[in-house]
Amino acid sequence: MFTMYCKRISATVIYVTAAIHRLFGRSMASESVTRFDFLVIGGGSGGLAGARRAAELGATAAVIESHKLGGTCVNVGCVPKKVMWNTSTHAEYLHDHEDYGFEEAKAHFNWQLIKRKRDAYVSRLNQIYLNNLDKAKIESIHGYARFTDDPEPTVEVNGKKYTALHILIATGGHPSTVSENDVPGASLGIISDGFFELESCPKRSVIAGAGYIAVEMAGILSTLGSKTSIIIRQGGVLRNFDALISSNCTKELQNHGIDLRKNTQVRSVQKTDKGLSVTLVTIDPDDKDAQEKYNTIHEVDCLLWAIGREPNTSGLNLSSIGVKLDEKGHIVVDEFQNTTRAGVYAVGDVCGRALLTPVAIAAGRKLAHRLFEGKADSKINYNNIPTVVFSHPPIGTVGLTEDEAIKTWGKDNVKVYTTSFTPMYYAITTRKSQCIMKLVCAGQNEKVVGLHMQGFGCDEMLQGFAVAVNMGATKEDFDRTIAIHPTSSEELVTLR
Ligand SMILES: Cc1cc2nc3c(=O)[nH]c(=O)nc-3n(C[C@H](O)[C@H](O)[C@H](O)COP(=O)(O)OP(=O)(O)OC[C@H]3O[C@@H](n4cnc5c(N)ncnc54)[C@H](O)[C@@H]3O)c2cc1C
Repeated sequence: MFTMYCKRISATVIYVTAAIHRLFGRSMASESVTRFDFLVIGGGSGGLAGARRAAELGATAAVIESHKLGGTCVNVGCVPKKVMWNTSTHAEYLHDHEDYGFEEAKAHFNWQLIKRKRDAYVSRLNQIYLNNLDKAKIESIHGYARFTDDPEPTVEVNGKKYTALHILIATGGHPSTVSENDVPGASLGIISDGFFELESCPKRSVIAGAGYIAVEMAGILSTLGSKTSIIIRQGGVLRNFDALISSNCTKELQNHGIDLRKNTQVRSVQKTDKGLSVTLVTIDPDDKDAQEKYNTIHEVDCLLWAIGREPNTSGLNLSSIGVKLDEKGHIVVDEFQNTTRAGVYAVGDVCGRALLTPVAIAAGRKLAHRLFEGKADSKINYNNIPTVVFSHPPIGTVGLTEDEAIKTWGKDNVKVYTTSFTPMYYAITTRKSQCIMKLVCAGQNEKVVGLHMQGFGCDEMLQGFAVAVNMGATKEDFDRTIAIHPTSSEELVTLR
């Protein structure tokens, strides 16, 4: 009762503060500093979601964006990537048309056309985001933000100063690059941002990296007709996923005709009149006396570095306001997204945890409810975050991997159910692809603590199952659910 009363009082104080700010305009601190209730640095997934929710709750808010509204997801991430993945699934279906009775169903693929349509869609989204800010009366400031040395946390953009009761850093990240010192000629390659600038489908692609962006881009390029090699430093891709997913995805890339080079790194890159020559070095980790083997891929017209992402923190002058960074430059936050400086918060990729759009959005919104609605315990739950990798076929995963479950629960308390089958779609096609599934169950009541799958339709299958896992469903709950036939998802409720 008392807690509820306090929450109400703190919410009232917040509303009154917001109202005073609105009444007296936005410049209260001094003549030269514009003041808001909520100042957001970064107009990407987390920043926009946080600002809009704060404005809905009565706060005066502003968003500072140095590039395009929508951030990574809209401009160089989820959105254009999914358009390209959809494009590549069409290319796959074309192979099956004759098997399904569509005779002589040949088609010419026009990369420029889909790029034009994709770019137009992204531009439309940029405009929609701007309109949404206007409608919500959120000030949109274009430019690069940097903290000043003023005693109160203050941000400078294009020579103008801004401050707020609460400042949110949602500056995201950028693709890692390789220095010329480490790999001579490295700058001849592109990063994932550059993938979306390609004006034609490369004939010969080399992708360095083993994470989900490398896997997705290799799949898209290969399916659309580029002869593709993927260069991985170890024995498999997606090594932080469940071991079954990692090994199956590695195998699927090869089934797909992708040239996968294990235990290999790019040593140097040279430009020739026929494209790039990419020299690789391979070393067998199981043979102590193994010699390095060199190999060169010639006539490469797209070398793509997909070797990870780094936070956008270096230009913010964060040390001046006492915001602590970890050793990789991510902003250190607590479970409520508080940084080490009171009144300054961070959400999304810049914090380095679960780098996904819905995570950034949820964290931004939860923070707004805490700051402007007095919901003191409003925070995001980082457990059981469902993830899809748009590989070929797609991967869906939620919860603990088998190894993580064993570490948490002990080997004797973990039971695993797996299956592998050919989805019915492929019953009458010459092109075949398997679906694999794994349920990780823990404890006496076999609570489902992890669910991992790769196969046709797994991308759309996952969300509902993630609800069940989040609610603490047991294997028995799964078994009690009547199957939907004929689908692939029915296998998850009939596992034995
Ligand atoms: C190729 C690719 C594919 C992806 N696919 C998916 C997917 O399928 N599903 C998924 O959930 N996630 C996906 N992601 C990840 C997703 O895009 C990010 O997790 C998400 O965008 C993070 O949101 P954010 O708000 O933290 O940062 P961002 O969206 O990166 O926004 C940060 C914004 O801050 C701006 N900024 C930076 N510094 C400053 C400054 N000093 N001043 C002003 N503005 C600044 C930047 O310009 C940027 O617009 C993908 C990412 C990539 C690269």
